[in-house]
Amino acid sequence: RVDAGGKLPDSIPHHSPRILRVALPTPLRRLFDYRPLREPPACGWQPGLRVRVPFGRRQMVGVVVECIDSSDLPPDRLKPVEACLDATPLPEDWLWLCRFTARYYQHSLGDTLHQALPVLLRQGRPLAGRMRERWQALPPSAEAEARLARAPRQAELLAMLRQHHHGLPTQAVLAQSFSREQLLALVDKGLVERLLDPLTAAETGAGRLLAEPALPLNREQAQALATVHERLEAFHPCLLHGVTGSGKTEVYLQLIEAVVARDRQALLLVPEIGLTPQTLARFRQRFRVPVVALHSGLTDHERLDAWEAAASGRAPIIIGTRSAIFTPLARPGVIIVDEEHDGSFKQQEGLRYHARDLAVTRAKHHAIPLLLGSATPSLESLYHAERGNYRHLRLTRRASRHAPARLELIDLRGRPRQGGLIPPAIEAIRETLAAGHQVLIFINRRGFAPTLACHACGWLADCDHCDARMTLHRQPPMLACHHCDKRRPVPDACPSCGSADLRPLGSGTERTEETLAALFPKVPVHRIDRDSTRRRDAFEHMLGQVRRGEPCLLVGTQMLAKGHHLPHVTLVVVVNADGGLYASDFRALEHSAQLLIQVAGRAGRASHPGRVLVQTLHTDDPHLRMLAQQGYDTLAEQLLAERRAAALPPYRFLALLRLESPKEEAASALGGEAAAMLRHWVAAHAPDVSCLGPVPAPMERRQNRYHLQLMLSSARRSQLHAACAQLTAWLEASPEARRVRWSLDVDPQTL
Ligand code: ADP
Ligand code: ZN
Ligand code: ZN
Repeated sequence: RVDAGGKLPDSIPHHSPRILRVALPTPLRRLFDYRPLREPPACGWQPGLRVRVPFGRRQMVGVVVECIDSSDLPPDRLKPVEACLDATPLPEDWLWLCRFTARYYQHSLGDTLHQALPVLLRQGRPLAGRMRERWQALPPSAEAEARLARAPRQAELLAMLRQHHHGLPTQAVLAQSFSREQLLALVDKGLVERLLDPLTAAETGAGRLLAEPALPLNREQAQALATVHERLEAFHPCLLHGVTGSGKTEVYLQLIEAVVARDRQALLLVPEIGLTPQTLARFRQRFRVPVVALHSGLTDHERLDAWEAAASGRAPIIIGTRSAIFTPLARPGVIIVDEEHDGSFKQQEGLRYHARDLAVTRAKHHAIPLLLGSATPSLESLYHAERGNYRHLRLTRRASRHAPARLELIDLRGRPRQGGLIPPAIEAIRETLAAGHQVLIFINRRGFAPTLACHACGWLADCDHCDARMTLHRQPPMLACHHCDKRRPVPDACPSCGSADLRPLGSGTERTEETLAALFPKVPVHRIDRDSTRRRDAFEHMLGQVRRGEPCLLVGTQMLAKGHHLPHVTLVVVVNADGGLYASDFRALEHSAQLLIQVAGRAGRASHPGRVLVQTLHTDDPHLRMLAQQGYDTLAEQLLAERRAAALPPYRFLALLRLESPKEEAASALGGEAAAMLRHWVAAHAPDVSCLGPVPAPMERRQNRYHLQLMLSSARRSQLHAACAQLTAWLEASPEARRVRWSLDVDPQTL
């Protein structure tokens, strides 16, 4: 057994190692030994080379991570590598990051490498194969040209190439009825050079960097930029803490400009919802150099091109969502994480990494600045800023005239609701529309109603597979579980008592949309949620209409709340703010405060001041009042104090073992054994680690499987990691663990 992350790779090329240690895409946290090919690759055997190897009855593509001379197995029992797929190793910075990630998140290195590669590279596609041939005339040489006397076509071809400063691609030459043989003959004679260009050829170096001038910065922006700029050659983490609309993006743009002007690359991570054509357009408008975007809409080929462009250094600016953190960079210059508090930076399944946290590690490794931007920073980042680990840069002023709107709490209790809205909210909507402005109604629930209820017997539409209610949808009509995606037709009569008095309970986006359409028949109502925007272009089309500014109503979930610039919205109504107030998850309050502030930030971005109405059953809730009256920063201070008192992150580190099985007993037996083993082990080896559970997960039954969890916590990273390593090793060796699905989540975002 090999500790997959323990040793640093031997980076010296090794021409004749006896054994190659290969990481393969399996969940097993170990490496596999193979014999090298008799002929080593031209670069010598090195970590980072992809190889094709036999594995069981299959073949797999793996990555060499060590070249060594002895194995636990005798060399004659080792199978040989079938082929080496690379002429040179995959980028070192990429391999380093993957090794770190696998070790930190206690994940299989082979699977980590696999996930961090574009699909085509996983499949063994060559890296250098995607090139365009170009033929360029070399400086004239009388001697060489003399040899063309008896080859008039070659002379013509040379003359043609000389007219093209940057040479011609093969296609263009063939199109003029010249042949490849003629081209190669000219190469042989030393008159023409054959060049290979990647498909995403960058028109860099063509003079000016900017396509439009940068904005003159205000004092705070200038100061923030200057602080980062002070030390572009060192690890230099900064938190850019600025209210929505305070010009953070402008700071990113100018920082990127400075970095690219020094011929370095900038990597910008944005939340999943934030990588809109609008965001990209803003960056592409500013720069003349290519801006490469990495998002889920790319084809495999486009993704590989982008990866190569970043790895080779041709792409100076790379913008991507979470997984873009694994993009190799030839000349890293800065990493920026926009909306650093956003939950989408954490991958919630498989390799459970946090892209923001990896960004910190990566910037440190490269010794470059790191900029984390947010209007509502995560408590983790605020904590680091307070301790001086990060520079705390503040932008308090909005570029537009108006300060961000205050939250006005309005009491839901004892008031009639229509589509979830109470009379004062409806009145405010009416006034805003009459003034010719737009209104955003935020409701964190898609579908028509959270569930269907029988008024005769109290029956509720429960999911058969989960401890959850099924959501009622009207477009199209069905009951759907948002946890397991199970669907059923809407019953005509109560399945329990036969009564026909079935009524929707509560409101979702569809119902609010319907109500508003009835209340304001002359005003267009746009609903924006996952159901209404399955087609991205439909979404952009609708936003385009909204940006033209006619009065309209926007009803949406957080899809709408995040990132979109909606200059004509002057009223925001939050249908229900109570979801996160009394949730069991310790981060729920933080996340719902961030979301409320973000939603509120949609109001009054342009020339008109905004108003934000927040409907709640808990107008007296101290946290909600603090948020409304004193703002996010004060609440965040308070929440940090509570976290400290409760010994929760960021004051302590957590890891969560999740167990699930169709059989409750199987999961709880394994959980119990694991906990007993772990308690025994930590007592001797990691006394600071405490172990809680196993306890049922918040939704114990989901998709007909029982979910349990075991929580580890420690103020010491090293001890927590040692305990996690012990736990995963024990589970991998345990025969019972084969019948129970388990996963370990280091730094879980939700419990
Ligand atoms: P944030 O990213 O903090 O939400 P943006 O960078 O998107 O803020 O800026 C909000 C608006 O203010 C944008 O329309 C932007 O063009 C404008 N803006 C930003 N900085 C300046 C500046 N220094 N001068 C004038 N307008 C600015
Ligand atoms: Zn009934
Ligand atoms: Zn379900």
